Amino acid sequence: MRSLPTRAQAVVVGAGQAGLATSFYLRRAGLVPGDDFVVLDAAESPGGAWPRMWERLRLFSPSTASSLPGWMMPPWDDRTHGYPPRAHVVGYLTEYEKRYSLSVLRPHRVLAVRRADEDPDGDLVVEASTSRIATRAVVSATGTWESPFRPSIAGSDLFAGLQLHAADYRRPEDLAGRRVVVVGGGNSAAQIVAEVSTTATTTWVTRRPPRFLPDDVDGRDLFAAATARLRALDEGREHGGVGGLGDIVMVPEVREARDRGVLDEVRPMFSRMTPTGVAWPDGREELADVVIWCTGFRPALRHLAPLGLRGPDGRVAVDGPSGTQAVEEPRVFLVGYGDWTGPASATLVGVGPSARATAAAVVGRLHAGPAGG
Ligand code: FAD
Repeated sequence: MRSLPTRAQAVVVGAGQAGLATSFYLRRAGLVPGDDFVVLDAAESPGGAWPRMWERLRLFSPSTASSLPGWMMPPWDDRTHGYPPRAHVVGYLTEYEKRYSLSVLRPHRVLAVRRADEDPDGDLVVEASTSRIATRAVVSATGTWESPFRPSIAGSDLFAGLQLHAADYRRPEDLAGRRVVVVGGGNSAAQIVAEVSTTATTTWVTRRPPRFLPDDVDGRDLFAAATARLRALDEGREHGGVGGLGDIVMVPEVREARDRGVLDEVRPMFSRMTPTGVAWPDGREELADVVIWCTGFRPALRHLAPLGLRGPDGRVAVDGPSGTQAVEEPRVFLVGYGDWTGPASATLVGVGPSARATAAAVVGRLHAGPAGG
């Protein structure tokens, strides 16, 4: 493991797609990776969260609409083989950091980011593993995968079966022959019901009826809608954004499950768990061996806790020219956490604009010198 420097002009925390895209633009602005700025990542291997997602996960957009800045994702025969699989994304991100010599230092988990002193234009100190790096700017690109969210529900501690979050799920064979309740109304839930129903008995539970997108709509349309919403908001106009379209992309596996009738019956959310399953207010019960919580994620921001930036919603107020600069700590930038840090910024194709704007704002701060910018 390469040792860490004691000083860098900027530190990028996280080398998933968001950290890589931001580093691409910092490098293009003339900063030398591994020297002027360093990129730290906690994982042993490249690819962000993608290597840890379930085995048969596929993109919800074709390779042509899933590229980071500078280098198109290698082509994938979407017509014959469906959208690119997880392994194709991991290979792309692995090659991407090599291609631009981003010198990612891993595995190095950033434990804390602190102010060096009271000077608002002084240094920040990034504590990683056993090192401390003094720096002028921190870009947090740590994603959400490490912060799965599970709602609290009565009786959860009584349930004698297995409870998994979508982040823990890997493959349908692990659950063969079991009675599986899948909770959630988004893409993860639909794709996991589609897979698990091939080996187990599934019951799909959601708070409100799932909203399927039309078969011919995919991630490209979602990105277009998110971009149109940004433009409309910039121009002071209303725009329904993605919400007007629906939630669930009809990827081939979900379409196939629909054709099998597996998606026909969706139950409302249960009110409590029992030692043997789940129960509804009207007394109905469902025996279950496994409950899979596809109930989303929260931003992984524990390392920023010493700065006291997080609001009651778990997010950090951001604005500035990049739309990613922490309002209460202009030396910190947040990239890739979803629409609150830039429309579609939690997607491969969507993270580029906010990454570019963030790199420009960081370089602007560094050039402005101690007075900051
Ligand atoms: P991540 O990929 O999570 O990368 C964050 C990196 O930060 C990781 O490498 C981690 O090791 C590191 N890290 C975290 N904390 C620390 C720390 N304290 N110190 C050092 N390093 C740290 N997007 C699309 O464009 N198309 C899709 O089809 C698509 N499908 C998706 C399906 C699912 C099930 C999910 C959950 C997301 C999907 N996304 C999709 C969204 C998006 O691509 C991923 O969530 C992506 O991983 C987000 O990239 P990121 O760089 O923000 O975060």
